[in-house]
Amino acid sequence: MKRNFLTRNYCILCNSKKIIDVLKLEETPLANSYPIRKNIKEQYFPLTTSLCNKCGHLQLKQVVSPKKMFSNYLYVSGTSKVLIRHFNKYCNKMISKFKLKKKDFILDIACNDGTFLEFFVKKKFMNIVGVEPAKNLRNINIRKKIKINTIFFNETNSFTLKKKYQKFKLISANNVFAHVPNLKSFALGVKNILDNKGVFVFEVSYLLDVINKLSFDTIYHEHMSYHALKPLISFFNSLGMNVFDFDLIDSQGGSIRVYVCHAGQRRIFKNKINNQIIKEFKRGLFKKKLYEKYYKRMTQEKIKFQRYICKYDSKFVFGFGAPAKLTTFSHFFRIDRNQINSIVDDNKLKQKRFSPGQKFPIISYEKLKKSQCKVIIIFAWNFAESIIKKLRKFFRKKNVKVIVPFPKLRIINL
Ligand SMILES: [Zn+2]
Repeated sequence: MKRNFLTRNYCILCNSKKIIDVLKLEETPLANSYPIRKNIKEQYFPLTTSLCNKCGHLQLKQVVSPKKMFSNYLYVSGTSKVLIRHFNKYCNKMISKFKLKKKDFILDIACNDGTFLEFFVKKKFMNIVGVEPAKNLRNINIRKKIKINTIFFNETNSFTLKKKYQKFKLISANNVFAHVPNLKSFALGVKNILDNKGVFVFEVSYLLDVINKLSFDTIYHEHMSYHALKPLISFFNSLGMNVFDFDLIDSQGGSIRVYVCHAGQRRIFKNKINNQIIKEFKRGLFKKKLYEKYYKRMTQEKIKFQRYICKYDSKFVFGFGAPAKLTTFSHFFRIDRNQINSIVDDNKLKQKRFSPGQKFPIISYEKLKKSQCKVIIIFAWNFAESIIKKLRKFFRKKNVKVIVPFPKLRIINL
């Protein structure tokens, strides 16, 4: 089978060619591919990260075509209650922090099923625009009264939006800044349509959390970048923009929300930003050595996990949550097809399909309730607490053990 991916030999943020390989994971199929049949032959891709010696950015070495990954997307934000609450709070904060008015133009890039924008619509904001390349998510946005554009966002396409609408007071991009193969074109596109006093805000998984929480499973082909604050500052400066503030947030296992404006248009919270960058340096984020230690920790956790799980017959072992990160996790931990019965996922689009690679069947929660399960592994570990609460309602005193694999293997009696 033809392996269609590119190998990137320069830094996506600063263009430097001084990049070195730091983490080599197991080859996997695409993390969101979820085959319909068990016997479908899947394409595997290498999975390596590389570190820029100039600006300190960590990125993926292999770049798979975004069209292959994002044109039909099964991840829907609206299926997670935790995420819905998060977006509600986030929307309120943006309105009060930047004094947004009902007539202001607001754009969300990669708006998914419109979960975030819907909160603005409900508050009677009139000019709510979304960009989302996934064709299967178009109608759901239209139903939510979002002016949807089914395109990939980049500098060229930003001119189309400029013609269609006014410049935007707020442009958001949540959990997408890691997914973009050409960040320069993306950022220039934002600059092109951002109001002079406008704000570009994005939330992205934070490298410091990926390291501290050992969440290496967030490394998969869709995530082309693993962002820290320091490399982003120099990146935006080079494009005539400024990072002026940031927030650290809990979502997606630890994220950073970064605020960007046109250069010189807002007060920059310099001390706050510098203190965070010092933390990044102290942790060793920009040095190869950290990633060598990290790899050792990953291997130790894998051994612990395998020792525990091999005691059980697969018919009693279930997973909970089939997020994209399951793919990296299950391949690196070498979880065999014969070790797990099935995996529950509340997203109906995933049910009756199979997990990428090992092809664990994906089932509904109702099916789990009827099973003889003894062990439930939480693969969607960033939602562990709410999943445990849900499981307790049914499985309490039924002698079921729950495993939370990260940041350290935890075994809980329900
Ligand atoms: Zn760089």
